[in-house]
Amino acid sequence: MILHYEVGDIVTLKKGHPCGENKWEIMRTGVDIKLRCQGCHRQIWLTRMEFEKRVRRILVGDKWISIIHYKGKEEQPEDKE
Ligand SMILES: [Zn+2]
Repeated sequence: MILHYEVGDIVTLKKGHPCGENKWEIMRTGVDIKLRCQGCHRQIWLTRMEFEKRVRRILVGDKWISIIHYKGKEEQPEDKE
């Protein structure tokens, strides 16, 4: 399965940070993924495999979507007025 995420995305993980927050900004992608805790701003590195095992939801606009259902920015339905 291919997960879609990029630098700047906000995600949740299976377990939150010890500070109590479970929102992470993706700072770097590649073989290793750098995340910044949105609570205390500490940065952590995960291998891509670890990250893809632990990541749960992604913030799209103001909605949290399960990352396995997220197809990337281009494929989200347009908002209709
Ligand atoms: Zn934290």
